[in-house]
Amino acid sequence: MKTHARVVVVGGGVVGASVLYHLAKAGWRDVVLVERDELTSGSTWHAAGGMHTLNGDPNVTKLQEYTIKLYSEIEAASGQSCGVHITGGVNLAGTPERMDFLRLARARARYLGLAMEIISVEEAQNLFPLLDKRHFVGALYNPLEGHVDPAGVTNAYAKAARNLEAEVYRFTRVVELIARADGGWDIVTDKGTIHAEHVVNAGGLWAREVGRMAGLELPVLAMEHQYVLTGDVPEAVAAVNSGSELLHVIDFEGEIYMRQEGRGMLIGTYEKAGVPWSERETPWNFTHELLLPDLDRIAPSLEVGFRHFPALERAGIRRVINGPFTFAPDGNPLIGPIRGLSNHWVACGVMAGFSQGGGVGLALANWMIDGDPGFDVWAMDVARFGEWASPAYTNAKVRENYSRRFRIRFPNEELPAARPLRTTPVYDTLKARGAVFGAAFGVEHALWFAPHGMEPREDVTYRRSNAHGPVGEECRAVRRAVGLLEIATFARHKVAGRDAATWLDRMLAGRMPREGRLALSPMLNDKGKLIGDFTVANAGGDRYFVFGSGIAEQYHRRWLDAHLRAYGVRIESLADEWMGLAIAGPRSRELLARVSPADVSAEAMPFLSFRRIEVATLPAHVGRISFTGELGYEIWVPAQSQVALHDALVEAGADLGLRHFGARALHSLRLEKSFGNWAREYRPIYTPAEAGLGRFVDWTKPDFIGRSAMVQDRSHPPSRRLCTFVVEAADADAIGDEPISRDGSVIGWVTSGGYGHCVGKSIALGYVTASVAAATEGFEIEILGERRRAVRCAHPLYDPDGRKMRA
Ligand SMILES: Cc1cc2nc3c(=O)[nH]c(=O)nc-3n(C[C@H](O)[C@H](O)[C@H](O)COP(=O)(O)OP(=O)(O)OC[C@H]3O[C@@H](n4cnc5c(N)ncnc54)[C@H](O)[C@@H]3O)c2cc1C
Repeated sequence: MKTHARVVVVGGGVVGASVLYHLAKAGWRDVVLVERDELTSGSTWHAAGGMHTLNGDPNVTKLQEYTIKLYSEIEAASGQSCGVHITGGVNLAGTPERMDFLRLARARARYLGLAMEIISVEEAQNLFPLLDKRHFVGALYNPLEGHVDPAGVTNAYAKAARNLEAEVYRFTRVVELIARADGGWDIVTDKGTIHAEHVVNAGGLWAREVGRMAGLELPVLAMEHQYVLTGDVPEAVAAVNSGSELLHVIDFEGEIYMRQEGRGMLIGTYEKAGVPWSERETPWNFTHELLLPDLDRIAPSLEVGFRHFPALERAGIRRVINGPFTFAPDGNPLIGPIRGLSNHWVACGVMAGFSQGGGVGLALANWMIDGDPGFDVWAMDVARFGEWASPAYTNAKVRENYSRRFRIRFPNEELPAARPLRTTPVYDTLKARGAVFGAAFGVEHALWFAPHGMEPREDVTYRRSNAHGPVGEECRAVRRAVGLLEIATFARHKVAGRDAATWLDRMLAGRMPREGRLALSPMLNDKGKLIGDFTVANAGGDRYFVFGSGIAEQYHRRWLDAHLRAYGVRIESLADEWMGLAIAGPRSRELLARVSPADVSAEAMPFLSFRRIEVATLPAHVGRISFTGELGYEIWVPAQSQVALHDALVEAGADLGLRHFGARALHSLRLEKSFGNWAREYRPIYTPAEAGLGRFVDWTKPDFIGRSAMVQDRSHPPSRRLCTFVVEAADADAIGDEPISRDGSVIGWVTSGGYGHCVGKSIALGYVTASVAAATEGFEIEILGERRRAVRCAHPLYDPDGRKMRA
C-alpha cells in the first residue's frame, strides 16, 4: 500500500468508484480508493439498478443523462460489461395534477435537449400491455430509461480507473482521519497510514461515521427499501422468447416503480410509513447482508399495483429484497468541499447511484481539479445545509422525503416535517396576524398573511392559489402606503479588522462603499462566474456588514473562509444576533420619522445610506434600500429587541395604512422591477454581463477575484442575456424552468415567474440566446403544456427609472 497519495477516496460503492474514475480520467495520478470489504459492499450490491432522467431539478436531470450515457464509455475503457438495458420508460399519471407535473417535466426536457413525449393512455398501454387503462389519464414517455448491473457498473469504473494508474485497496478500512498542518490528511487504515493531499468521503451507508472522523455530523440517514420479484408474467415470458424487453414503468398513484426481471417483474415501492435503518450508527460488520422483509409494510402499495396491473397479482411474489440506502433531507446528493476543512470533500447521500453516480463523480473531480464543478450543482451542494441540520432534523426530513418520493411537490408547497426549527422573535406575533410560513435554510419566514376570517393555509397547486388575492392586497399596500416585512431570510455577515477593506475589495467585484453608504456588489469565482450578489455596508472603523441570500449563508462562508488566511480580517455571522424588519412604500419615511429622533429626510439620509440611529428607542443599523423598488429601509436591531421594534412600527404606522407583507408579495414586487434573485437569476453558471450585473463591476480596480477571466470574456459579447417578459398567461404563471421559444426553437429558459399584482401582468424572467435578446415580439413560454405568447420588455414594468426608490 502507498504511504503517499494525492487523493484517497474512502468507499468503493458506485459513487466512490465513479469519483476515482473521473479523477484518473482527468489526468490526476496517485489517486487511490480504499474499501473496507469487497467493492459494492454498502448499498450498491443489492440495488435494483434502475436509471432514468426524470428529476424535479433540471440540472440534476442533465447530470442523470450524463450518467446514463457514460456507461458505454466505461465499458469500452474497462472491458467490463455494465449490463446496460435501455428499455425506455412510461411514467403514468392517474390525476390531472400529475399530468401537469409530467407536462412540466416534458417542457424542461425540451430546453435540456431530452426527447420526452406526452402520450395518451392508449399509447401507454400499447407500450406496456400490463396496465389497466381505467386507472390512468395519460403518461410521459422517456426513451432514456432502463437498468444496469450494479456490480458491473462499479467494477467497470474501478477497472477503467486502474487502467489509468489509479489504485484500489480492498479489505482496508479507514479508522481515523487526521488533519495535517500542511493542509492534507493522514488517512489511518487497519493496514497502515496514507498521507494524502485530499480526502473524499464516499462512505455511502457509513458516510456519517467517516464524517465523524473529521468532526462532522453529515445530514444523511439510511432508510430500509424493499422491492419484490414476481413469478412468471406471460408478457415478460413472451418478451424473453422474442428477445425484447418490457419498458420501465413508474405508477405515481400506486407509488411503485417496475421493470422486467427475467420471466417476471421487479416491483419497488416507497411506502408512506418508511422505516429508517441504523438511525444513529451504521455497524461496521454489516456487509452483503439483507434486512428482514416486511411485506405488510408495502402491502398497501402492492395492492394498488395489483389493481393497476392485474397480471402481477396472478403472477404472485417470488422473492422480497429489503436493503438500506442513504438520503439527504431533500433527497438530493451531498457533494462538495466542507467549509472550514482543508481539502476535505464529500460525495454521499446519493439515493439514485445508477442515475446520478457518473455526474456526481464528474462534478466532484472537476471541483477538486479546477476549483469549480463545471456545471450547476447548487441542488446538490453540501453547503445548502448548515449546522442546524441535526440528526433529528435529518431523520424527520428523510422520512418525509421517502414517503413522498412519488408525490408531487407543488411549486407553492411547504413541507411540514421538522418545523418550526429556527424561529425569529416575531414568529408568534406574525403567526397571530395570520402569517402562512415557509422555511428557508431552516428559518421560518412569512410567505403571506391571511386576512381576518380566512384560514392561514395555502392550497397547493400549479395554478394561482387562494393566496393570490391577499398577496395582491399586500403588494398594493406597499406601492400605495407602507408595508412591513420581516427580513429573516437575508444573511448578514460582519467583516471586521484592519485589512477588512482591502480584503473585501479583492473578494468582491464591485466598488466598495464609502463610510455610511451601501453598495451592491457581485462576487465572482476565478472563472468570472457569479457566486454571490451582496449589499455591502461600510459602518466605519474597519467594520463592514455584508448582506446576502440566507439560503447561501454556508455556501458564501465556505468561499469567504477559504480565502481568509493570512489577513487581519474576521468574519462573523450575525444570523442569531441581528434581526431585521424592512419597511417599504411611499410613506415609509414618514413612518421612520415617527419612531426615530434622527434626521431621516431625503437630504440627510439619501438612497443607499447606512446609519446607526435610534429607532423606537433601540440602537439600530438602518440601510436605505428596498428590494420592492419603493422608498424603503432595512432596520436591524439586536435579536431581543425585534418584537419591540415590530410593535412600535405597527403602532406608529396604523394610520399610514401600514400592512404586513411576506415573501410572495416581495417576489411579485421584485418581478415588476426586473430584480434578480440568488439561486434563480444569479447562479454560478452565469457571468455578470449575462445577468445584467455588469454595471456593478468596478473595472477601475486593478485586482479582484474573477477579473482576469472577465477581461478575457470582454472581447466576445455574452452568449445569453437575462430578459423580462410579459406572458399572456391564464390562471397559471411561469414558475421557473419553462422553455422560452422563438420561431419554434427553444432559445432559453425561465428563471422565475409570477403575477405582477400592481402592473396587472404575468411576468417571467429568463435567459435567452443573446442574438434574439433585443427582439420584443415572437417569444413563447410554455406553461403547463401550452405555449403562451410572451413579449420582452426592454425596461422594468414598474417605475423603470427607479425614481420611487430614490425619492
Ligand atoms: C433495495 C435497494 C434498491 C435500490 N434500487 C436502486 C435503483 O434501482 N437505482 C438506483 O440508482 N439506485 C438504487 N438504490 C440505491 C443505490 O444502491 C445507492 O444510490 C448507491 O448504492 C449508493 O452508492 P454509494 O457508493 O454512495 O454507497 P455504498 O454503496 O453504501 O458504498 C459505500 C462504500 O464505502 C465503504 N466504506 C464505508 N466506510 C468505509 C471506511 N471507513 N473504510 C473503507 N471503506 C468504507 C463501504 O464498505 C461501501 O462499499 C437501491 C438501494 C436499495 C437498498
